[in-house]
Amino acid sequence: MSFEETHRLLQQQTLSRPALIAGRGLFHGIDAKVRLRPAAPDTGIVFRRVDLKDRPEVAAHVDNVASSTRRTVLASSSGAVVETVEHLMAALAGLQVDNCLIEIDAIEVPAVDGSSLPFCEAILAAGLTVQESERSILVVEESHGVNDRAGEQWIEVIPGYDGVSTVDYRLDYGLQSSLAPQSFSVELTPEAFLRDIAAARTFVLEDEVAALQQLGFGRHLTGRDLVVFDADGSVIDNSLRWADEPVRHKILDCIGDLALNGRVFAGRVVARRSGHKLNHVMAKTLSTIDICRKLLQRAA
Ligand SMILES: [Zn+2]
Repeated sequence: MSFEETHRLLQQQTLSRPALIAGRGLFHGIDAKVRLRPAAPDTGIVFRRVDLKDRPEVAAHVDNVASSTRRTVLASSSGAVVETVEHLMAALAGLQVDNCLIEIDAIEVPAVDGSSLPFCEAILAAGLTVQESERSILVVEESHGVNDRAGEQWIEVIPGYDGVSTVDYRLDYGLQSSLAPQSFSVELTPEAFLRDIAAARTFVLEDEVAALQQLGFGRHLTGRDLVVFDADGSVIDNSLRWADEPVRHKILDCIGDLALNGRVFAGRVVARRSGHKLNHVMAKTLSTIDICRKLLQRAA
């Protein structure tokens, strides 16, 4: 590994200048503007609702996760609620941005194209600055796993860090699902994230759409706004970016949700069908592990 690569891995990073992204939210369809601002070392990722009185803030930490359906919602005691943060969180984690103040003027992060790519492009256009403070890196030294009651969904973080963390995911909705099982594995480097994961879009099965719309979500959406699979497993009014785009998107969600543990972790993630709820439990587990060492010590 070159000095530059090692340095980038060990030091905190923030944006070099602000980046702006605008668009409608996925669930509520409300227009929102998001401004990603550079932030001081050890700030972490913090949202600020600039449309509300006193501009309340909510830290992007698993302790602030509120109960929700099919997405990640943050809520603070100061009254700041920000919904559907996971794809923006994935972009920041994927590009290894440690510190960022995210000003938002509505309740929900723009859906953009349903993936993390537009966020990544905005971040890369703004540029990244390496900061003088070191990253606190959680080196996973024993396995931690959580699963649903039926044992059909699980996620595990296991040791085995060998210079780069990995996420290994198997999507399998069972024999009756129109979506065939898919597996994918990726290294948690900015290069691999941009190449293999960032552009993977949100997907939904056709029979889930009506139920979500009945709950009042996504009534503004068409098949052009996200990937909808019909009962035969074909995509309605859209085309896939990869044949296995769904599993790549599940990894994207996983990266965004696990980042809510508040620390960079060094280890291997192995998951099967894990969704936001289980991802949040795992993020909480990671956040409570107090064996936190500098990667430098491990590498020495
Ligand atoms: Zn998602």
